[in-house]
Amino acid sequence: MTRGHCRARLLAMLLILFPAIALAWGPSGHRMVAQLAEERLDSRSHAEVRHLLGVLGARSLADIANWADEMRSDPAQRELSRATSRLHFVNFTDSRCTYDAPRICANGQCVVAAIQRHAAVLGDRSATDRSRAEALRYLVHFVGDAHQPLHAGYRSDRGGNNHQVRFNGKGSNLHAIWDSPVLASRRLRWNDHARRLERQPLSDNSTDPLAWAEQSCRISRDGGLYPQGRTIDKAYLERMRPIAERQIRRAGKRLANLLNRALD
Ligand SMILES: [Zn+2]
Repeated sequence: MTRGHCRARLLAMLLILFPAIALAWGPSGHRMVAQLAEERLDSRSHAEVRHLLGVLGARSLADIANWADEMRSDPAQRELSRATSRLHFVNFTDSRCTYDAPRICANGQCVVAAIQRHAAVLGDRSATDRSRAEALRYLVHFVGDAHQPLHAGYRSDRGGNNHQVRFNGKGSNLHAIWDSPVLASRRLRWNDHARRLERQPLSDNSTDPLAWAEQSCRISRDGGLYPQGRTIDKAYLERMRPIAERQIRRAGKRLANLLNRALD
């Protein structure tokens, strides 16, 4: 067995043992954000998005929303995966939730800087279609990530990854609970869930990822996300779901704002 194989097996084993080292909203959350954004594109941006989706062989923003996470389990993308692993989140140093770039996003290695960079490439008409399409694929994902409150939580517990909890009789961590079970407690398929959220539109013209991350941090601080005890029960999921759904709606609207601005 090659060294690469060994590593891949080790990683697979680690993921089985610690599924808790979570990367993002689960796939459904990212698809919902993408779907909500696509509905709100103006006609010019929509045409441009269609064109760039074609370059990627995709048909909708939801189709590409999880690529940035999925490619991480592809051995052929190991280098890229390593180079981008810090771009899915930003960890704040303390509960003031102030975005201090040199301290929390050194060398542009965080979700806020990644969104800014990819938005610039997307809006650059002199860039190739391929690089603009790839920028779009990252943007759709990272804007979702920036709205998962624990992707902009505290460094001290790695955005809830180190905050152990029990869920359904098993060990888990708070970050993982926020990636999927909170939204999944609605018990709808992602497209039905997105349609339901679409009926509660949001007016928000923000296009600043820095403000989004600070807001996510404040939600992780003030939203009651850290449970009293260590057990995640149904009441906790019911209490948190409106917060998560609001973040999905915001992410969808703001992703649309960002794309409309970059593509018009
Ligand atoms: Zn991610």
